[in-house]
Formats: sequence, C-alpha cells, structure tokens
Amino acid sequence: MELRKTFQIEAAHSLPRVPAGHKCARLHGHSFQIEVIVEGPVDPQFGWVMDYADIKAAFRPLYEQLDHNHLNTIPGLENPTSEVLAGWVWDRLKPALPLLKEIRVAETCNSSCVYRGPLVG
Ligand SMILES: [Zn+2]
Repeated sequence: MELRKTFQIEAAHSLPRVPAGHKCARLHGHSFQIEVIVEGPVDPQFGWVMDYADIKAAFRPLYEQLDHNHLNTIPGLENPTSEVLAGWVWDRLKPALPLLKEIRVAETCNSSCVYRGPLVG
C-alpha cells in the first residue's frame, strides 16, 4: 500500500549551469509541490501503513530550510533543478522515513520529476 503526502514550498532559484540566454538563469520563484510517497504493509491493528502526521513531522525540518528561501544559498542546492532538489530531499528524508519510496517535485502544474532513490546492484 502506498501513502502520498504533498507539501508546498514557496522558493526562489536560478539555474547557473543552463546555456547562455536561458530564462532559468534569471532569479525567479515557484510554488514547488513536493510529494512524499511511502510504501509498506497495512498494520493489521491500526489499519494504516503509517501516520500521515509522522510523514509531516519528518518533512518539517526540510520545509523549514526550503520555504521562503533562495534555494541556491542552501548547501547541496547550488544548482537547484527539480532533479537535484528531489535527490536532496530523498537523502535527508530516507533516514527518518525508512518506508520512503518516491519523491516527486513539481515546479509547475505540468512539469514534475520523480526520484526513487539511488540505483543499487
Ligand atoms: Zn525555475
């Protein structure tokens, strides 16, 4: 069973490595939607995979760092593409959320990126 919880952060960024003249090189903002997906068995006693409140609590420190911030100034987010942000969130959330299966980062309503962790094996 899968649980999905969506958080929204308002943040500014620019992409320093894009080709010359690319619009994303300019400082601009997004209402980023960050979806946290966990997967696991349904606990027979509680009838749930886990408490949504525990997902929120695990994400809270990241929300505090990201929301209303300039992402490029955050260590690890010097080139804050959606892909880099998804990996950054994964790396920090996975230790607190072992059931984490997927991070989805949407910059806009119709552009999003999904990360399912590093490839193994
Ligand atoms: Zn952007």
